[in-house]
Amino acid sequence: MDIVKQIATRQAKTLNRLSNWGLYSTFDGSYDPRTTFSERLDDEQLEFIKCETMTTRLAMSRARQTNRDYESTLMEVQLEVGIELTKILAETIDPAFSGTNAVKIEEDGQVCGICQEDMEKGEEARAMICCSHKFHGFCIFEWVKRKTNCPLCRCEMLTRKYFEF
Ligand SMILES: [Zn+2]
Ligand SMILES: [Zn+2]
Repeated sequence: MDIVKQIATRQAKTLNRLSNWGLYSTFDGSYDPRTTFSERLDDEQLEFIKCETMTTRLAMSRARQTNRDYESTLMEVQLEVGIELTKILAETIDPAFSGTNAVKIEEDGQVCGICQEDMEKGEEARAMICCSHKFHGFCIFEWVKRKTNCPLCRCEMLTRKYFEF
């Protein structure tokens, strides 16, 4: 994995731990036998500092290699990390991504169960992980803002687990 991806993945994991706090700990730390709340938070802060150090190191070596100034190289690296982080977060947090797979429609005659419009052969679509029913990407993205089951068979949406705690 290249360094930009490594940094973004570490940041995403840390953000994921923070946003899923309730899954493995309460705010007073009573469900987390390892540490107290403030100690845990220190861990997350330390992780962000490590990511910053990795970012500046990468910018320094890239500036040296390409003979450019450090400031603009740093901005470039930060932007690249930001783009990677956004991609990872979209896939891990948004159920429309984590609960569906990207697929191509293989035959004509299929209809999107949400908008009832045709789905054409070769068209990009999203298939639910729970039942493999396929819908237009745009339709399922709108759907999961309100509901977490399949519009056709009502199965509860499964979402991929990206990070273990
Ligand atoms: Zn549709
Ligand atoms: Zn279904």
